[in-house]
Amino acid sequence: MSLTIQTFPAGPLETNAYLVIDDATKRALIIDAPMGSTDDVISAAEDAGATIELIYITHAHWDHVGDAAEMKNRTGAPLLAHPLSAPGLTSPGSSALDLPFEIAPAAIDGLVADGETVELGETNFAIMHLPGHEPGHTALYSEADRVFLGGDVLFPNGHGRIDIPGASQTDMAASLKRLAVLPGEVTVYPGHGLPTTIGAEPWLQSYR
Ligand SMILES: [Zn+2]
Repeated sequence: MSLTIQTFPAGPLETNAYLVIDDATKRALIIDAPMGSTDDVISAAEDAGATIELIYITHAHWDHVGDAAEMKNRTGAPLLAHPLSAPGLTSPGSSALDLPFEIAPAAIDGLVADGETVELGETNFAIMHLPGHEPGHTALYSEADRVFLGGDVLFPNGHGRIDIPGASQTDMAASLKRLAVLPGEVTVYPGHGLPTTIGAEPWLQSYR
């Protein structure tokens, strides 16, 4: 079993959309839908002969969901997110965060919870609810593939912002504690910037 992961930074904050393809079955999912990412993600899936089966939203900050409605319309794929992230998807701009752009609302088709599984062909991802940056923040983890699709929880040299509305330092510490015990060779694909690994972030161990 193996995965192909392509990265598409898009929008004013260079938010990463990821196209994740299960190589054996060519079934694919999209992680997050930043503004302006739809065309590139769909063409890449077509080039790879992959079928996009679902759109997974890690959290509903505007820079991660600007294209959520368009991505749904163009792919016909269902959108999955945590219930606590629903307000940012169904009523963008309803959070206390300033919304610098008009964003089309997108209905959630499937609610996710910690401990559930997302199946993609031969790959199983565990859903981890990791609040702290945003109350409904979740991530996908494949232990077998050593892949963590993490949104805005963990970045090279630091964690996601907790100085914004809806954030919680206590929740972030609890979330980082769960990540600190993952195998060191797990690759982290963050919501912005380049990948890292659990082992390349020694500061994380102070949260154990
Ligand atoms: Zn965010």
